[in-house]
Amino acid sequence: MTYVERVLKDLKKRNPGEPEFHQAATEILTTLAPVVEKHPEYEKAGLLERFVEPERVVMFRVPWVDDKGKVHVNKGYRVQFNSAIGPYKGGLRFHPSVNLSIIKFLGLEQILKNSLTGLPIGGGKGGSDFDPKGKSDREIMAFCQSFMTELYRHIGADTDVPAGDIGVGGREIGFLFGQYKKIRNEHVGVLTGRGLSYGGSLVRTEATGYGLIYITEEALKVRGESFEGKTVVISGSGNVAIYACQKAQSLGAKVVAMYDSNGYIYDPNGINLDVVKDIKEVKRGRIKEYAERVPGSTYTEGCKGIWTIPCDIALPCATQNEIDAQAAQTLVDNGCKYVGEGANMPSTLEAIDIFQKNGVVFLPAKAANAGGVATSALEMAQSSGRMFWSFEEVDAQLKNIMVNIYHNIDEAAREYGYEGNYVMGANIAGFKKVADAMMAQGIV
Ligand code: NDP
Repeated sequence: MTYVERVLKDLKKRNPGEPEFHQAATEILTTLAPVVEKHPEYEKAGLLERFVEPERVVMFRVPWVDDKGKVHVNKGYRVQFNSAIGPYKGGLRFHPSVNLSIIKFLGLEQILKNSLTGLPIGGGKGGSDFDPKGKSDREIMAFCQSFMTELYRHIGADTDVPAGDIGVGGREIGFLFGQYKKIRNEHVGVLTGRGLSYGGSLVRTEATGYGLIYITEEALKVRGESFEGKTVVISGSGNVAIYACQKAQSLGAKVVAMYDSNGYIYDPNGINLDVVKDIKEVKRGRIKEYAERVPGSTYTEGCKGIWTIPCDIALPCATQNEIDAQAAQTLVDNGCKYVGEGANMPSTLEAIDIFQKNGVVFLPAKAANAGGVATSALEMAQSSGRMFWSFEEVDAQLKNIMVNIYHNIDEAAREYGYEGNYVMGANIAGFKKVADAMMAQGIV
């Protein structure tokens, strides 16, 4: 049994009932085999065993009272996975599906993603099984305040800097920050994704979606192509999906479909993003309404069917495991040539295999959606330097980072003899820097 196989087997035995964590660890560790073969000193130093074990896991009770006076109790999590290259950094997810396995898979991915940005940030992730859907602003505030009343003691501007993720946007970050500031009596960059009036950065809202388009644009460019005239399908209709759509459209693409967790809309004339934004950002409503408002468009209940719509480029931007083997095969059969992952782990291992075997240019999440956390790191730099950069300045840095990520993962894949395999490239390029730092810092 090889070193990687042993570590994986042990991980599955010691972390039972954590399928998403197993899936992410399997994807990452199997691609690292050629690196650990080249560096036998890693095995001696127990590097992989330490890499897959979080430095710290915090789990806590989050009690709160709803508008009718009823008491609710949710679970809170913060996984501080790896601080070898910088303070823990990663989002908070509020969704009923959240459990330790999901937070650990996201945290493990985050280590390599953050490393790929080239910025000094370690990996972490957190969240709660709280469902923000249908809650009043007061209920959201009550929950966020209770969540932060425990979380504050574990985080800090130089220790751990959370941000948003599914179910955590500007409103939630505002309530969380307000509570942190009240308890600690310090106005510091302890959360990113803050409002512009209290330390936020321009472009942070757009960053993950824009970054996804910038890296895909680079992949197209080196192949003599562009977004101009391409048909694009985007899943989700949240923060990442909306700004990916906006940037793709501005580059001449036609985005024909999007979804929320109930069903998908298809608009052969190209999605009218103002309507989507009004429904999802302003009214916090359901995407179904789009078909009632935009003539020529249709709504279909259920999400899966979105991948049967023929497209040149597919951008999954909602959640994990949205694209299974069947969906991947349908995309390939319909002529899809590029897949860029806006969401974290939206493709199953089988789906990735199908894309790669069929020559689809596949940009994995940890590279493709790194624009969000990269811009968060730019927000941290502005906070600590008491500076405020222009939209153009931040956007230019974001684009530069995404273009660099593309070339880094491309080169790493080539160096190890896997040209065009960006899963290998991203894992190897991200891991090398973390491994170097961990080796330098001793057995800790
Ligand atoms: P949002 O909460 O803003 O939007 C999530 C979207 O996905 C919504 O349209 C939601 O539908 C849909 N969705 C959520 N769960 C499911 C599900 N189980 N099935 C179908 N649809 C679902 O989140 P974000 O846009 O911020 O995040 C989307 C993805 O991008 C996540 O994987 C996240 O980890 C990843 N990501 C986000 C970053 C960021 O900066 N925000 C950075 C890097 C990655 P509904 O409206 O019905 O809930």
